[in-house]
Amino acid sequence: MAAATTRTRLRQDAERRQDAERRQDAERRQDAELRQDAELRQDAERRQDAELRQDAELRQDAERRRAAIRAARNRPKPRPWVLPVQKYHLTGRFGQQGNNWSSSHHGLDFAAPAGTPIRAVGAGTIIEAGWNGSAYGNRIKVRHRDGTVTLYAHLSGFERKAGKVATGTVIGYVGTTGNVTGPHLHLEVRPHGGKLDSAIDPSRWLATKGLRP
Ligand SMILES: [Zn+2]
Repeated sequence: MAAATTRTRLRQDAERRQDAERRQDAERRQDAELRQDAELRQDAERRQDAELRQDAELRQDAERRRAAIRAARNRPKPRPWVLPVQKYHLTGRFGQQGNNWSSSHHGLDFAAPAGTPIRAVGAGTIIEAGWNGSAYGNRIKVRHRDGTVTLYAHLSGFERKAGKVATGTVIGYVGTTGNVTGPHLHLEVRPHGGKLDSAIDPSRWLATKGLRP
């Protein structure tokens, strides 16, 4: 009886040890799995962080490029063409008939007080300046780069009589010389420097330069 009891106890001890070992094995496996999971999560987080940083850098790059484009667009560009007089009202249109004109009117009249500065409408070279008879009075011709000639008539005086001019250079002053009833600038536009009958409507020509007299 005692021997049987002893065997039983030994078997029970062995089973308890095996149980304990199985539990320990299971715990070790679980620990290992948990560690692996944590490492995978950390790896994933590091990758995500790197991607977010890269995204942010790409966004910053794009924003810098956009800002540079905006700045370039907003930079004031030098104006290639300007109106010849700054304050004026139009008194004679191209093609009008009138007592003062032998035929139809070949220019555009900007009425302004005598002495008002007259500016070259664009860059070019003064090709003629001086008295031109009882029609134009004192007048200046400027040839522009494309060959178009602009003519400024009835001036009271000259500021330039020769040489190159930039857009907006003051070349003379509004006056009443020639065939006029009051102080004004007569502006004429002749493509390719042609004669009087080749003159075109200065309003339309100025409109092609983005100007609306
Ligand atoms: Zn005129």
